[in-house]
Amino acid sequence: MNARSQRLYRIGTTLADLIWPPRSLLSDARVDRLGTLEPDLWRALNFLYGPGCARCGFPIPEAAGPDILCPVCLAQPPLYERARAALAYDDLSRPLVLNLKHGGRKDGLTAFAGWMLEAAPFVRDADQILPVPLHWSRLWGRGYNQAAWLAQAIARRARRPYNPMLLQRKRATPSQNGLSASGRKRNVSGAFQVTQSVRGQAFLLVDDVMTTGATLQACAAALLRAGALRVDCVALARVVRPTKLDVPTEPIGSAQELFDV
Ligand SMILES: [Zn+2]
Repeated sequence: MNARSQRLYRIGTTLADLIWPPRSLLSDARVDRLGTLEPDLWRALNFLYGPGCARCGFPIPEAAGPDILCPVCLAQPPLYERARAALAYDDLSRPLVLNLKHGGRKDGLTAFAGWMLEAAPFVRDADQILPVPLHWSRLWGRGYNQAAWLAQAIARRARRPYNPMLLQRKRATPSQNGLSASGRKRNVSGAFQVTQSVRGQAFLLVDDVMTTGATLQACAAALLRAGALRVDCVALARVVRPTKLDVPTEPIGSAQELFDV
């Protein structure tokens, strides 16, 4: 952007702010800049930048080193290499996710991308950045894929290639809401397909919320089965219920099982 364009941009944004004063991402309060929130609320958000499981990123405050694994990953290593989320999915962060997912609110994307990069510096190791895809019927109904918005914002910030077409959801699956961990896994197993060559490449998968990780696992299975070198994941928020640390009492399926579905 040259000096004249920058001046016009500043004048434009100032006029826009006068007409539509920027509102906080989490309240009706006016804020200085679009896509920000009040310092008090920002400090209250539960960012997951601290120590955690080396694989799934589950927060472990007492973790003694970078190679610690949570009991779930020890019992059943995930197919993806590393997964991280910027925020705990709780009462405070939920409106951020819901405003993005159901409200189509895009003004937080730049901030979200910065938070996700902070939580997952390995984003820059990816050859391509992919969103968790929606089935075309859901995309048609909603009009957008919030994971794609996030993936695009991260790719722009990390200066890595963004490819929303590589991974597709070939089967419309019911919502994961309300399903058990094993139900979630069954629901999305085999739901994804790769449409381009992925051999030898490293991928970053982006989603808005990580709950049990079943969707990310199913996406990773499709990519690895097609020859991908590595799959990493990042989400805006993740569920961190203490029960997540319980080792499942029923088998959650081997890597081979995931490949076979
Ligand atoms: Zn883990």
